[in-house]
Amino acid sequence: MALKRSSVRFRLAPPILTIELTGTAAQGLHDMSAATCAARVALAFIALALCGSGAVAQQTIVEPVPDAAWRNMNGKSWHAHLPCPSREELALLKVPYWDFNGVARTGELIVGRSAAHDVAKVFDTIFASRQFRFAKIRLIDHYNGSDDASMADNNTSAFNCRKVEGSQGMSKHARGLAIDINPIQNPYRDAKGTYPRAGTRYGIPAERKPGITGLIVEGDIVTRAFAGIGWSWGGHFKSIKDYQHFAK
Ligand SMILES: [Zn+2]
Repeated sequence: MALKRSSVRFRLAPPILTIELTGTAAQGLHDMSAATCAARVALAFIALALCGSGAVAQQTIVEPVPDAAWRNMNGKSWHAHLPCPSREELALLKVPYWDFNGVARTGELIVGRSAAHDVAKVFDTIFASRQFRFAKIRLIDHYNGSDDASMADNNTSAFNCRKVEGSQGMSKHARGLAIDINPIQNPYRDAKGTYPRAGTRYGIPAERKPGITGLIVEGDIVTRAFAGIGWSWGGHFKSIKDYQHFAK
Protein backbone atom coordinates (compact mmCIF):
# COMPACT_ATOMS: atom_id res chain seq x y z
CA MET A 1 0.00 0.00 0.00
CA ALA A 2 1.29 3.43 -0.89
CA LEU A 3 2.12 5.66 2.03
CA LYS A 4 0.44 9.01 2.38
CA ARG A 5 2.57 12.04 1.80
CA SER A 6 3.18 14.09 4.92
CA SER A 7 1.55 17.21 3.58
CA VAL A 8 1.60 19.63 0.69
CA ARG A 9 4.42 18.93 -1.73
CA PHE A 10 6.53 21.65 -3.26
CA ARG A 11 9.32 20.75 -5.59
CA LEU A 12 10.86 22.44 -8.56
CA ALA A 13 12.80 20.91 -11.36
CA PRO A 14 16.59 21.36 -11.60
CA PRO A 15 17.67 24.61 -13.24
CA ILE A 16 17.42 23.36 -16.77
CA LEU A 17 15.14 24.97 -19.31
CA THR A 18 15.05 23.63 -22.82
CA ILE A 19 13.52 25.74 -25.54
CA GLU A 20 12.96 24.06 -28.84
CA LEU A 21 11.02 25.54 -31.68
CA THR A 22 9.82 23.29 -34.43
CA GLY A 23 8.71 24.77 -37.73
CA THR A 24 5.03 24.81 -36.72
CA ALA A 25 5.73 26.20 -33.25
CA ALA A 26 7.98 28.90 -34.69
CA GLN A 27 5.20 29.87 -37.09
CA GLY A 28 2.75 29.91 -34.15
CA LEU A 29 5.05 32.26 -32.25
CA HIS A 30 5.25 34.49 -35.31
CA ASP A 31 1.45 34.60 -35.55
CA MET A 32 0.97 35.32 -31.82
CA SER A 33 -0.20 38.77 -30.83
CA ALA A 34 2.44 40.96 -29.21
CA ALA A 35 0.59 40.94 -25.85
CA THR A 36 0.30 37.15 -25.72
CA CYS A 37 3.89 36.77 -26.70
CA ALA A 38 5.08 39.20 -24.01
CA ALA A 39 3.01 37.35 -21.39
CA ARG A 40 4.54 34.01 -22.38
CA VAL A 41 8.05 35.40 -22.32
CA ALA A 42 7.42 36.87 -18.84
CA LEU A 43 6.19 33.48 -17.60
CA ALA A 44 9.24 31.80 -19.02
CA PHE A 45 11.51 34.25 -17.14
CA ILE A 46 9.60 33.68 -13.88
CA ALA A 47 10.00 29.92 -14.34
CA LEU A 48 13.69 30.37 -15.08
CA ALA A 49 14.18 32.53 -11.96
CA LEU A 50 12.44 29.95 -9.75
CA CYS A 51 14.40 27.06 -11.23
CA GLY A 52 17.64 28.98 -10.88
CA SER A 53 17.06 29.57 -7.16
CA GLY A 54 17.82 25.88 -6.55
CA ALA A 55 14.69 25.50 -4.43
CA VAL A 56 14.31 22.20 -2.57
CA ALA A 57 11.23 20.54 -1.09
CA GLN A 58 10.05 22.64 1.84
CA GLN A 59 8.49 19.67 3.60
CA THR A 60 9.43 16.05 4.06
CA ILE A 61 8.16 13.57 1.51
CA VAL A 62 7.35 10.08 2.84
CA GLU A 63 7.51 7.21 0.34
CA PRO A 64 7.62 3.41 0.36
CA VAL A 65 11.21 2.16 -0.04
CA PRO A 66 11.86 2.36 -3.82
CA ASP A 67 13.21 -0.65 -5.74
CA ALA A 68 16.70 0.80 -6.27
CA ALA A 69 17.14 1.74 -2.59
CA TRP A 70 15.88 -1.69 -1.47
CA ARG A 71 18.29 -3.53 -3.75
CA ASN A 72 21.14 -1.36 -2.48
CA MET A 73 20.27 -2.01 1.20
CA ASN A 74 20.67 -5.77 0.92
CA GLY A 75 23.93 -6.83 2.58
CA LYS A 76 24.60 -3.26 3.75
CA SER A 77 21.93 -1.92 6.11
CA TRP A 78 19.63 -4.95 5.71
CA HIS A 79 20.68 -8.59 6.27
CA ALA A 80 18.78 -11.81 5.61
CA HIS A 81 20.51 -13.56 8.56
CA LEU A 82 19.41 -10.94 11.13
CA PRO A 83 15.88 -10.22 12.41
CA CYS A 84 15.45 -7.16 10.19
CA PRO A 85 12.11 -5.49 9.40
CA SER A 86 10.44 -6.19 6.06
CA ARG A 87 10.58 -3.64 3.26
CA GLU A 88 6.92 -2.78 3.96
CA GLU A 89 7.77 -1.94 7.58
CA LEU A 90 10.18 0.76 6.44
CA ALA A 91 9.76 4.10 4.67
CA LEU A 92 12.02 6.50 2.79
CA LEU A 93 11.96 10.12 3.92
CA LYS A 94 13.20 12.94 1.74
CA VAL A 95 13.91 15.61 4.33
CA PRO A 96 14.71 19.31 3.86
CA TYR A 97 17.68 20.61 5.85
CA TRP A 98 20.14 23.50 6.10
CA ASP A 99 23.72 22.39 5.59
CA PHE A 100 26.74 23.81 7.46
CA ASN A 101 27.07 26.56 4.84
CA GLY A 102 23.45 27.59 5.27
CA VAL A 103 22.36 26.06 1.94
CA ALA A 104 18.96 24.32 1.79
CA ARG A 105 19.27 20.69 0.72
CA THR A 106 17.25 17.49 0.60
CA GLY A 107 18.53 14.46 2.52
CA GLU A 108 17.40 10.85 2.67
CA LEU A 109 16.55 8.75 5.72
CA ILE A 110 15.08 5.27 6.05
CA VAL A 111 12.94 4.93 9.17
CA GLY A 112 10.33 2.55 10.59
CA ARG A 113 7.10 3.17 8.72
CA SER A 114 5.16 3.44 11.98
CA ALA A 115 7.30 6.45 12.94
CA ALA A 116 7.64 8.02 9.48
CA HIS A 117 5.17 10.85 9.90
CA ASP A 118 6.42 11.74 13.39
CA VAL A 119 10.00 11.91 12.10
CA ALA A 120 8.82 14.00 9.14
CA LYS A 121 7.27 16.43 11.60
CA VAL A 122 10.57 16.71 13.49
CA PHE A 123 12.64 17.46 10.38
CA ASP A 124 10.04 19.92 9.07
CA THR A 125 10.02 21.74 12.42
CA ILE A 126 13.83 21.95 12.50
CA PHE A 127 14.00 23.13 8.87
CA ALA A 128 11.30 25.78 9.31
CA SER A 129 13.03 27.12 12.46
CA ARG A 130 16.32 27.75 10.55
CA GLN A 131 17.99 27.23 13.94
CA PHE A 132 19.97 24.06 13.28
CA ARG A 133 22.27 22.76 10.54
CA PHE A 134 23.16 19.24 9.41
CA ALA A 135 26.51 18.32 7.84
CA LYS A 136 24.82 15.78 5.52
CA ILE A 137 21.91 13.33 5.53
CA ARG A 138 22.58 10.24 3.39
CA LEU A 139 21.48 6.63 3.60
CA ILE A 140 24.02 4.54 5.50
CA ASP A 141 24.21 2.21 2.49
CA HIS A 142 26.39 4.92 0.98
CA TYR A 143 28.94 3.76 3.60
CA ASN A 144 28.22 0.05 2.99
CA GLY A 145 26.25 -0.02 6.24
CA SER A 146 29.33 0.93 8.31
CA ASP A 147 28.31 2.99 11.32
CA ASP A 148 31.98 3.94 11.91
CA ALA A 149 32.38 5.27 8.36
CA SER A 150 29.09 7.18 8.52
CA MET A 151 30.03 8.73 11.89
CA ALA A 152 33.53 9.66 10.70
CA ASP A 153 31.93 11.49 7.74
CA ASN A 154 29.62 13.39 10.14
CA ASN A 155 26.59 11.86 8.43
CA THR A 156 23.10 11.88 9.93
CA SER A 157 21.39 8.49 9.53
CA ALA A 158 18.60 6.32 10.91
CA PHE A 159 17.89 2.73 9.82
CA ASN A 160 20.72 0.24 10.08
CA CYS A 161 19.87 -3.38 10.91
CA ARG A 162 22.74 -4.13 13.28
CA LYS A 163 23.42 -5.27 16.81
CA VAL A 164 24.18 -2.82 19.60
CA GLU A 165 27.93 -2.22 19.62
CA GLY A 166 29.53 -4.89 21.85
CA SER A 167 26.23 -6.69 22.54
CA GLN A 168 23.95 -9.38 21.12
CA GLY A 169 20.83 -7.19 21.30
CA MET A 170 19.49 -5.45 18.22
CA SER A 171 19.84 -1.67 18.16
CA LYS A 172 16.79 0.58 17.82
CA HIS A 173 18.41 1.62 14.54
CA ALA A 174 17.61 -1.94 13.39
CA ARG A 175 13.91 -1.04 13.39
CA GLY A 176 14.44 2.45 12.05
CA LEU A 177 13.36 3.90 15.38
CA ALA A 178 16.58 5.79 16.14
CA ILE A 179 18.42 8.64 14.43
CA ASP A 180 22.05 9.77 14.86
CA ILE A 181 22.66 13.47 14.15
CA ASN A 182 25.99 15.16 13.25
CA PRO A 183 28.15 12.51 15.03
CA ILE A 184 31.29 14.69 15.14
CA GLN A 185 29.63 17.53 17.06
CA ASN A 186 27.53 14.99 18.97
CA PRO A 187 29.76 11.97 19.64
CA TYR A 188 29.19 8.77 21.57
CA ARG A 189 31.26 8.58 24.77
CA ASP A 190 31.83 5.67 27.15
CA ALA A 191 34.58 4.60 29.56
CA LYS A 192 36.74 3.41 26.66
CA GLY A 193 36.67 6.54 24.55
CA THR A 194 34.78 8.92 22.29
CA TYR A 195 33.51 8.01 18.81
CA PRO A 196 34.04 9.20 16.18
CA ARG A 197 37.59 10.29 17.05
CA ALA A 198 37.12 13.65 15.32
CA GLY A 199 34.41 14.41 17.88
CA THR A 200 36.60 13.83 20.96
CA ARG A 201 36.50 17.48 21.96
CA TYR A 202 32.69 17.57 21.88
CA GLY A 203 32.47 14.54 24.17
CA ILE A 204 33.63 16.82 27.01
CA PRO A 205 30.55 18.38 28.67
CA ALA A 206 32.29 21.75 29.23
CA GLU A 207 32.90 22.01 25.46
CA ARG A 208 29.25 21.50 24.61
CA LYS A 209 28.26 25.14 24.33
CA PRO A 210 25.33 26.62 22.42
CA GLY A 211 26.25 28.34 19.17
CA ILE A 212 28.58 25.64 17.78
CA THR A 213 27.29 24.66 14.32
CA GLY A 214 25.58 21.26 14.39
CA LEU A 215 25.93 20.75 18.12
CA ILE A 216 22.85 19.70 20.08
CA VAL A 217 22.17 21.24 23.50
CA GLU A 218 19.38 20.70 25.98
CA GLY A 219 16.31 22.81 25.16
CA ASP A 220 17.30 23.59 21.56
CA ILE A 221 15.01 23.08 18.56
CA VAL A 222 16.30 19.51 18.03
CA THR A 223 15.73 18.21 21.57
CA ARG A 224 12.36 19.99 21.71
CA ALA A 225 11.19 18.61 18.36
CA PHE A 226 12.09 15.02 19.31
CA ALA A 227 10.57 15.44 22.78
CA GLY A 228 7.42 16.54 20.96
CA ILE A 229 7.05 13.08 19.40
CA GLY A 230 8.06 11.29 22.60
CA TRP A 231 11.59 10.23 21.57
CA SER A 232 14.38 10.24 24.12
CA TRP A 233 17.86 11.76 23.76
CA GLY A 234 21.14 9.93 24.35
CA GLY A 235 22.45 13.14 25.93
CA HIS A 236 20.33 12.16 28.93
CA PHE A 237 21.90 8.70 29.33
CA LYS A 238 23.49 8.27 32.76
CA SER A 239 26.39 5.80 32.38
CA ILE A 240 27.46 6.73 28.85
CA LYS A 241 26.61 9.68 26.60
CA ASP A 242 25.30 9.33 23.07
CA TYR A 243 24.75 12.96 22.08
CA GLN A 244 23.90 12.13 18.46
CA HIS A 245 21.22 9.57 19.32
CA PHE A 246 17.43 10.06 19.45
CA ALA A 247 15.18 7.01 19.78
CA LYS A 248 11.57 6.01 20.24
ZN1 LIG B 1 22.23 5.91 17.53
